[in-house]
Amino acid sequence: MAEKMLKFVGLKGETPLKSKVSERVKNFFEIYKNYIEPKAKEQSSRCSQCGVPYCQIHCPLSNNIPDWLKLTAEGRLEEAYELSSATNNMPEVCGRICPQDRLCEGNCVIERAGHGTVTIGSIEKFITDHAFENGWIKPFKVKKNLNQSIGIIGAGPAGLAAAEQLRKLGYQIIVYDRYDRPGGLLIYGIPNFKLEKHIVERRTKLLEDSGIKFAQNFEVGKKNTLQDLKEKHDAILIATGVYKAREVEIKGSTLKNIFPAMEFLTASNKKGLGDKVKLFDDGTLNAEGKNIVVIGGGDTAMDCVRTAIRQNAKSVKCLYRRDKKNMPGSAREVSNAEEEGVDFNWLTNPKEFIGEKGIVKQVILHKMRLGETDATGRQRPEIVSGSEKKIDADIVIKALGFDPEDIPNLFSEPKLDVSKWGTIKTDLKTMKTNIEGVFAAGDIVRGASLVVWAIRDGRDAATSIDEYLKNKKFLAERKKLVA
Ligand SMILES: Cc1cc2nc3c(=O)[nH]c(=O)nc-3n(C[C@H](O)[C@H](O)[C@H](O)COP(=O)(O)OP(=O)(O)OC[C@H]3O[C@@H](n4cnc5c(N)ncnc54)[C@H](O)[C@@H]3O)c2cc1C
Ligand code: SF4
Repeated sequence: MAEKMLKFVGLKGETPLKSKVSERVKNFFEIYKNYIEPKAKEQSSRCSQCGVPYCQIHCPLSNNIPDWLKLTAEGRLEEAYELSSATNNMPEVCGRICPQDRLCEGNCVIERAGHGTVTIGSIEKFITDHAFENGWIKPFKVKKNLNQSIGIIGAGPAGLAAAEQLRKLGYQIIVYDRYDRPGGLLIYGIPNFKLEKHIVERRTKLLEDSGIKFAQNFEVGKKNTLQDLKEKHDAILIATGVYKAREVEIKGSTLKNIFPAMEFLTASNKKGLGDKVKLFDDGTLNAEGKNIVVIGGGDTAMDCVRTAIRQNAKSVKCLYRRDKKNMPGSAREVSNAEEEGVDFNWLTNPKEFIGEKGIVKQVILHKMRLGETDATGRQRPEIVSGSEKKIDADIVIKALGFDPEDIPNLFSEPKLDVSKWGTIKTDLKTMKTNIEGVFAAGDIVRGASLVVWAIRDGRDAATSIDEYLKNKKFLAERKKLVA
């Protein structure tokens, strides 16, 4: 082992090449290239194979990172893929979009020791892309088909991970989704420059070819109630994500051309997929030639500003009420946005939108400063009096986060228990809701989170649903025997 591994002292960490800024702002392609095989092997060999792998502990999926790095360094790539996919249903997605600086890589022991992290995410992406390219990934075969069925509401990463795990066990699965394509935010939220859509489509096709059925354009609540679905299936998983955009409640907020982030991003993603989008095609949701103002400092805000840059906006400003150090989004994405020419206005908040003929034209801003620490441990932003200034805005995009929709009401199931924030309450160990046979996973339970956590939840829910259905079958058979 020693010959192949522990090369971190003499060998520098290298991420895959990034496209030049001048080129990448003209298109929506992913900005990071893939490793070539020798580079992936070389970079894997930097791992120190430490006894207590902090990278694994800080990966929500507990991926066996040191072992698949070692297999990669040794050129045993098919085995590396088998191991990496044993704990992760979408390693090629996580490798691309996990905020590794906060998870595995941020806790890598050699990073902590000042040698620079092993580039875990890029290697994970390489292993799975390489496996697809070499035909090692095939639709899975189910050993024994079972006659119990599960209805999964939501085809995002939580729903898809659960669907895969349960189908592998032989259950009949239907995934219902209100969108026309499976993938959830992987398709309609996250832009191509972070995750190209053919990567998601390759994954969802594999699931379809493995016998999972998809009912698209099927909005639960409109077409069916939760009770209707319960009558069709032996168990239900709710994995509907969170979509209610938080509002900016200031004067002028009802003016035209002020949009929630998802409306702007979905239009752009649909165009990328070749769809006709009326509001984009007539210019309403197209940033070209316009002054764009994005309010917010998370990943969604970064995706909006970078999309606007690629649509050739005249100017792109990001307003965030705290400073750069306190931005909630991934540091990597903030730095990519800075490189691409986004004008960041730290410690700034909108005070009022000014319009002409009902359409937004300007934003009045306040300067902010960081004051006392609040109950969450963060410094509270305070307005600096007399600091107002005006900026031009043809489109304003609200990217202040998402809340859950009113699921009990939408699903005509008023008894479904939700938290004070509207997220579905579950037993944390079993992911069961308070309604018999109904489970929940992903953002609709956690609130807006990460893809890797949604996958983890989907897998945990699948384990729990399997136990529940086995028990249900056993009890039904015993009842028959007794009768
Ligand atoms: C713009 C943006 C960028 C992001 N970037 C990142 C990133 O870089 N890295 C990262 O890790 N995370 C990122 N996230 C977060 C991540 O996308 C989510 O945490 C993750 O997708 C949650 O998965 P989910 O399966 O719970 O829900 P979702 O992905 O939201 O999927 C839910 C699905 O349920 C469907 N649905 C909802 N209601 C109904 C209904 N009534 N009937 C039928 N179907 C319904 C929806 O159509 C959707 O397909 C980002 C989020 C956004 C908004
Ligand atoms: S799933 Fe995410 S956190 Fe886990 S190893 Fe991969 S990139 Fe790191």
